[in-house]
Amino acid sequence: MCEHAMDRRAVLQAAGSAMLAGICGITGQAANAQFFTVLCSYAGGTVGAGLAPPTQYAVEVLNGIKAAINLNIPIQIFQGGVPNAAATLMPAPGLAGLFPTIVYNNQFLNALHNAGGPFAAKSVLAHEVGHHANNDTAWVKQFQHPWAKELAADFVSGLAMAKLGATSDEATQALKAMFSIFGSPSHPDTPRRLEAVISGWKEGGGKGAPKIG
Ligand SMILES: [Zn+2]
Repeated sequence: MCEHAMDRRAVLQAAGSAMLAGICGITGQAANAQFFTVLCSYAGGTVGAGLAPPTQYAVEVLNGIKAAINLNIPIQIFQGGVPNAAATLMPAPGLAGLFPTIVYNNQFLNALHNAGGPFAAKSVLAHEVGHHANNDTAWVKQFQHPWAKELAADFVSGLAMAKLGATSDEATQALKAMFSIFGSPSHPDTPRRLEAVISGWKEGGGKGAPKIG
């Protein structure tokens, strides 16, 4: 399952499939997220230790988001020691180099799902996918993106949510919920982020008048 193919693209695709299926030795990898540059932490905070395989639901959500925005790169996804969700680059089992990776806190996303509905949690993962889609991987300073990168990731999140059938309210639910609870030192202010999500949502064909408040 983990043997390399000659063609690099085939290797990447196979790796993506294997990683997303939660096989190919992920549990044996025992990598620690804090050793790798974190490109985004959705609501700020530090990265703790340890990674675990994703839930099947998370894999399905990730695949759905990628399909919605026609993103065909492999993205690893793990449960891990982050306060919310993070985009980063990490090694992949048996492969050279670093790969786009998302680490999420399962309890956090479950809480968001329960409080704000399925799209609330999905929009957070879509934000992290957005960083990879926008090729933020050159950014190296932990938790210090220019706001432009955060807003671009929010735009992708809104785009994906519209394509997946979310209303504007559903697409912005996560931001509204989180800023009402924590605020965030590492991300642009709520209104600008909400505007970015709505812009993406409109671009994605969201129907009806945006409801932001
Ligand atoms: Zn971000």
